Amino acid sequence: LGNKLQDILDRVGRESKLTEKQVKEAMREIRMALLEADVNFTVAKDFVARVTEKAVGQEVQGSLTGGQTVVKLVHDELIQTLGGETQQPTLKNEGNVWFMVGLQGAGKTTSTGKLAAFYKGKGRRVLLVAADTQRPAARDQLEVLANQVGVPVLKVADGETPQETRRRLDEYLKTDFRDLVIVDTAGRLQIDEALMDQLANLQTELAPTETLLVVDAMTGQEALNVARVFDERVHLSGLIITKMDGDARGGAALSARSVTGRPIYFAGVSEKISGLEPFYPDRVAGRILGMGDVLGLIERAQQADLKAMEVKKPGDFDLEDLLLQLRQIRKMGPLGDLLKLIPGMSRALPEGFNVDEKQIQRIDAMISSMTVKERRNPKIIDGRRRKRIAAGSGSTVQDINRLLKMHEQMKEMMKVLQRMSGPGGMGKGMK
Ligand code: GDP
Ligand code: MG
Repeated sequence: LGNKLQDILDRVGRESKLTEKQVKEAMREIRMALLEADVNFTVAKDFVARVTEKAVGQEVQGSLTGGQTVVKLVHDELIQTLGGETQQPTLKNEGNVWFMVGLQGAGKTTSTGKLAAFYKGKGRRVLLVAADTQRPAARDQLEVLANQVGVPVLKVADGETPQETRRRLDEYLKTDFRDLVIVDTAGRLQIDEALMDQLANLQTELAPTETLLVVDAMTGQEALNVARVFDERVHLSGLIITKMDGDARGGAALSARSVTGRPIYFAGVSEKISGLEPFYPDRVAGRILGMGDVLGLIERAQQADLKAMEVKKPGDFDLEDLLLQLRQIRKMGPLGDLLKLIPGMSRALPEGFNVDEKQIQRIDAMISSMTVKERRNPKIIDGRRRKRIAAGSGSTVQDINRLLKMHEQMKEMMKVLQRMSGPGGMGKGMK
């Protein structure tokens, strides 16, 4: 191997694995981003420790830089921590009873109405139970929502015992078949023992198939304690996170999910009855990190990478392929700017893959000034042709020389890398 080529390969080698220093620096920023998103301190600390362990020594993926690889690892781990895929509550053919719990103002009553609308739309026969006897207006609030959706509501009477409520519900269901009963319960401004006892008693009597904690996304740091106490007292089976339409970045979701390990089924996204969506871990992960654009960029980089690999055998890599690749990189937008969006990330990035927009434009112009024959077989580009191409693209013969040399080196490097990585080529290790 020539010296130059060896240099390039050495550098690839050095940059192909994430170093501890690189990861540690990036993780400082990630921890900040998590705390800014209101993720509980302990949850953030555990999360960072987990990702650090995974990241150090990781291969840098495909066409990503080290910094991008770290961000991708963080993002993937966040998605996993938030539950991976979108999940739905369990629904049997009949006999479904869902118990809504949470602090006052979290959005229980509103979410109860939203769920009624959502599942009525799916052909379910829903009954709402207004079991919040704490505030006089609470049962009326649910009744208004029930009328709006067009489902019946059973109001628990003042002073009624859980046994009586159970009996009245059974009686109701004898005369009017309902396959999904959603029970709206009372909340308090703070968790208190009397409330918890009352909740637990009603839960025992009604034997719900799902117990759903409604968490206000704006609760921030408190979300962890709320979720923990409710889980201890009434054993949660799932979570609903409300008010995701506000400024909250979603840290509460991560905290509540981490401490209970229960799936987040839905997100409330407006005050309206239709403002309920399935919970998408990937979207919320991007929101928590506050770097949606960067994540989109990384995805595009990976796609472009895959496409470029599909082009041809490395030995056939010609100037047309080079042009194609450059244009793909350009479509991704100014990389430098996007990476600067991540606080401190630019410092954590290794050198290399430094794409200068102007440089790409110049190379694009040069290749565009070549004939198809020249692009496919650069060997025929002699002195006379070089002069013509330079004049046509507003560059110098030296520029053309440099471009041809760069292409030659890239081609060599691709061949060597292909030999080193065996079948599957450089695309190995990517999804
Ligand atoms: P509860 O005390 O837990 O029953 O809470 P409510 O259902 O009465 O909701 C409290 C307030 O939060 C009401 O003003 C709701 O309109 C509002 N709210 C509930 N969910 C959402 C949501 O997803 N987005 C917005 N913007 N407001 C919501
Ligand atoms: Mg309520």
